[in-house]
Amino acid sequence: MISLAGGNPDLSGLPLEQLGATAARLIEEQGLEVLQYGAGSGIDPLREQLAAIMRRAGIEADPHDILITAGSQLGLELVTSLFCNPGDVILAESPTYVGAIGTFQGLEAEVRHIECDDDGLVPESLERAIAEARAEGRTVKLLYTIPNFTNPSGRTLTAERRASVAEICRAAGITVVEDDPYGLVRFDGEPVPAIRANNPEVIYLGSLSKIFSPGIRIGWVLAPKHVRDRLQLLCEATIIHASILSQHLALEYLRGDWERDLAASVDRYRERAHAMLEALPDAMPAGTTWTTPEGGFFVWIELPEGYSADAAFERAVDEGVIFVPGSGFLAHGNAPRSLRLSFSGETPERIREGVARLGRAIAATAGT
Ligand code: PMP
Repeated sequence: MISLAGGNPDLSGLPLEQLGATAARLIEEQGLEVLQYGAGSGIDPLREQLAAIMRRAGIEADPHDILITAGSQLGLELVTSLFCNPGDVILAESPTYVGAIGTFQGLEAEVRHIECDDDGLVPESLERAIAEARAEGRTVKLLYTIPNFTNPSGRTLTAERRASVAEICRAAGITVVEDDPYGLVRFDGEPVPAIRANNPEVIYLGSLSKIFSPGIRIGWVLAPKHVRDRLQLLCEATIIHASILSQHLALEYLRGDWERDLAASVDRYRERAHAMLEALPDAMPAGTTWTTPEGGFFVWIELPEGYSADAAFERAVDEGVIFVPGSGFLAHGNAPRSLRLSFSGETPERIREGVARLGRAIAATAGT
């Protein structure tokens, strides 16, 4: 089975022996500290390293404004529970990260989607959604955005639009939550400064999952001090703190030559993305459109009228390839002709073969 479904990072370039030696040394030499309870904020030297990572996105952060969490998923949960009451509206891209939809709906917020094009979310659509919700007497609390190579569509919000989105939300009194786990996984084009870089009121979520390891569960929230302090209390009430051992392992990794490992992974993702983008034109029915990501893990496909992503799924399994049908990435939505393909976990050869198999599965749904 060729999987174009999952969004797992490729860990094959990690220096496992070195990490093993580091873990052993941490336990042997600092075991009574790294196996003990620790600070609710996360350990200070790691907060400094995370501030340095954010500098690459143009963010000047005071390490004290960082809360280390068990993955950015927890950061999102904490921010949502701090800001939102049941029935509040959260605006998000269309389509958006399924795990965020789960968090928002779990806390009984209503997710409303903002239209997107190749430049990311459309500011006029954002303004319209705010006005419509308010006309209905609803409270809009958050805009949740993944500005770089979004999951699931792979699109990136342009610099110009980042500025207008921040301005629209500031004027409307809506907090922007910028979720940026993929920002450093750029394989083409030029980096765009984070929304947070020019807008200190924005809440920024970071993660080591895509640049080091998802299994160590280390992410972080950068937020204005009064918000960060309340998030820490909530975090302490929820998990006490992220694993101290994981934090130390991450710290040691970030003190080493992690950029070399990341550059090698990014080279692999580039090859894989290009293999997928080159294979699509021959495999997809005429009239199909897809995104062209400059980083991250995903391509989003829209089939022409008369084809069905849902029906293609079962046929694709028979052909020996899997993908994720698009409907799951919309809160209440139905996207019967959309699908997400991931290129992060398979070799270029298998991606080419997988896309060819997918093409046959989709062709078989013609007229359904
Ligand atoms: N946000 C987005 C957009 C993601 O794609 C993911 C992971 N797939 C997460 C957050 C969660 O990441 P973490 O492992 O840091 O919890």
